[in-house]
Amino acid sequence: PTMAHSQALLVLENFIGGKFVACSSYIDSYNPSTGVVYCRVPDSGKEEVEAAVKAAKDAFPVWTSKSPLERSQILNKLADLIEHDLEAFAQAESKDQGKTITFARTVDIPRAVHNFRFFASSILHHVTECTEMPTMGCVHYTSRAPVGVAGLISPWNLPLYLLTWKIAPAIACGNTVVAKPSEMTSVTAWMMCKLLEKAGVPPGVVNVVFGTGAKAGEALVSHPDVPLISFTGSTLTAQRITERSAPHCKRLSLELGGKNPAIIFDDADLSQCIPTTVRSSFANQGEICLCTSRIFVQRGIYSEFLKRFVAEVKKWKTGNPSDPTVNVGALISKEHLEKVRNYVKKAQAEGARVLCGEGVDPLALPPGNQKGYFMLPTVIAEVKDESCCMQEEIFGPVTCVVVFDTEEEVIKRANDVKYGLAATVWSSNVGRVHRVARRLQSGLVWTNCWLVRDLNLPFGGMKASGIGREGAKDSYEFFTEVKTITIKH
Ligand code: NAD
Repeated sequence: PTMAHSQALLVLENFIGGKFVACSSYIDSYNPSTGVVYCRVPDSGKEEVEAAVKAAKDAFPVWTSKSPLERSQILNKLADLIEHDLEAFAQAESKDQGKTITFARTVDIPRAVHNFRFFASSILHHVTECTEMPTMGCVHYTSRAPVGVAGLISPWNLPLYLLTWKIAPAIACGNTVVAKPSEMTSVTAWMMCKLLEKAGVPPGVVNVVFGTGAKAGEALVSHPDVPLISFTGSTLTAQRITERSAPHCKRLSLELGGKNPAIIFDDADLSQCIPTTVRSSFANQGEICLCTSRIFVQRGIYSEFLKRFVAEVKKWKTGNPSDPTVNVGALISKEHLEKVRNYVKKAQAEGARVLCGEGVDPLALPPGNQKGYFMLPTVIAEVKDESCCMQEEIFGPVTCVVVFDTEEEVIKRANDVKYGLAATVWSSNVGRVHRVARRLQSGLVWTNCWLVRDLNLPFGGMKASGIGREGAKDSYEFFTEVKTITIKH
């Protein structure tokens, strides 16, 4: 870049031991809606991770000795500070990730705020177990303590939302953390670091090291002084993390990919089902692990569903993410856009029919967004269950619609993928809803709705979608070590 250009770039720094620290090398970060480099992210490695782990270890004794109430007050203060800057955070998230400003304003940042408030509250309400053995004269009880330095690794799709979903429970429980956000979406994590001191988070409790998975991420997961790793990202990366951390027997929580089915029975209320299924397929450009990508429709309503669904999808506007009327923003990167487009090409080559979107409808973009990574929401029909579009996670604005006849058949087909994260069932028959939900291999099942979350309850996937659950009780258990103590009188 020219001098004038490089001066205009936003340059991030690592946050270690309560201080911003420059790094010796940097990575370019693009604005996905313009295709222009606008930010430089530290390319941290072993050395930076080492410094961050040391800072986190040093901060541990003081932080862990604070009462849950003291920690809770600090978390609430941090939530207030982020909320106060909500608009600035939302603008930054939209620019950095390509998501629409509306989504960032209404989902990403409010949820990041809520994550801190939620765990600030829930940490005050846990009880441990106690049993008695009168004949032995014994009482047993469990005691929980923080584990130590937690390594937290998050993806690019919901940057601050998913990072704070880890930081909040980790520090609420009294751990200190070294976090590594995705190198593609680091800005809001850096902005949050600027608020930590004011919130009262002592130096070293939250350290953020920016950089790639291969360098900074691997240094963190293989560090001997980081006994616990919470990771959200792809199944492939999770395998690598499992291997790299195995020699140290680390505690792992893995929140991974999905290939989520929506099952729509003849008796579904289509006026609710159709707009919700459009949202579940295309919200955040389809870049949510919980997004629907296989829609099974019962034969009796198949053609009506297709017609109404496609008409509804066509109402969604794709374009400049900062335009509040836009529904679909830019995809995260040029490479990812290429990958998603290739899935549509493969489906076509296999004889599937593209009903709307990619390659079928024109995409008109404003002059400033011509080089951005945009793609229209795309619906594919007549695709075989064994096609890669029905088996692999595409993680973009592409959804497949197929027909089914019986309950038994659809359960089998819905379960016939390696993933098991989220499923949606649409029917007005209560008995059927219960039967089907029980038999789906899926960590979450939503019936007659989508993405309604109670953070109290477990979140996570089965099969290749992950190991472990997070939520009020589950996160508390994951981020603490339990001990059973027996007292004899
Ligand atoms: P990714 O696996 O490529 O990267 C995730 C994070 O891991 C990034 O911070 C990356 O830098 C880091 N990383 C990469 N290689 C690493 C390594 N060898 N060691 C340590 N860290 C490494 O995933 P992504 O492309 O950023 O995110 C998309 C994926 O995340 C999708 O598969 C999606 O389904 C999944 N996801 C899952 C959930 C969930 O809760 N289950 C939520 C959101 C996203």
